[in-house]
Amino acid sequence: LASKAFKKEPTIITLKNGVVIGGDDFVVMSGPCSVESEEQLRIIAKAVKDSGSNVLRGGVFKPRTSPYAFQGLGIEGLKMMRKVADEFGMAIITELMGTEHIDEFVKYVDIIQLGARNMQNFDLLKAVGKTNIPVLLKRGLSATIEEWLMSAEYIMASGNDQVILCERGIRTFEKYTRNTLDISAVLAVRELSHLPVIVDPSHAAGKWEMIESLSLASLAVEADGIIVEVHHDPENALSDGAQSLKPHKFEHMMDRLEKASTVF
Ligand code: PEP
Ligand code: MN
Repeated sequence: LASKAFKKEPTIITLKNGVVIGGDDFVVMSGPCSVESEEQLRIIAKAVKDSGSNVLRGGVFKPRTSPYAFQGLGIEGLKMMRKVADEFGMAIITELMGTEHIDEFVKYVDIIQLGARNMQNFDLLKAVGKTNIPVLLKRGLSATIEEWLMSAEYIMASGNDQVILCERGIRTFEKYTRNTLDISAVLAVRELSHLPVIVDPSHAAGKWEMIESLSLASLAVEADGIIVEVHHDPENALSDGAQSLKPHKFEHMMDRLEKASTVF
């Protein structure tokens, strides 16, 4: 179902606030790694919206490597996201880690994010496949392109054809960056599938200094968009501060993307 052999025309996904993914626009989803408080989220949402981003990201259930690290605000955070996003006319995307909260996600979110660590959680794939909410499927930490597309297939086979793929870097021997951004994977899935594909330069690089250039690279390979972490006070962020752009850097990136999009 995910394959081009099955369907040639690109899949285009339209969100409730009018954002179109997989069409002509390069969609920028942005916001903090974790929702920390309503105030934090409002400051960041206002900044990214002013720079032209219409989809707010933020984790409320966090798949942290250590069980002692901040785990997210849970459903309270989800309600905060909905409230703040509505103030700015933004759509929201947040990660679902288990099937127990699926009803609340269907009620509140515009895109369900499935994280890299859950790419092959088949019960979760089937469960989101039974909803009619668009799903962002991140590539697993060490997943091949074929395995990634097979996971998309699970969602679609359960009845949901609104799947967006997300390349977020894979694990290699290289330790300088957090992960290795597989930019050619965008070209590969374009070739193999009709599904939209976006890039997450933040989790790929792990360093904010690289985000702007990797975003431009994503535009150059004709990805359908990016998902980027932004924080107004990254030094004190509860997660992923080192890879989060400050709002003025984000604005700079958005300006360059705008200019570059007229060239490509
Ligand atoms: C995230 O988006 O904050 C996240 C945890 O991403 P990934 O699943 O790609 O590691
Ligand atoms: Mn993160």
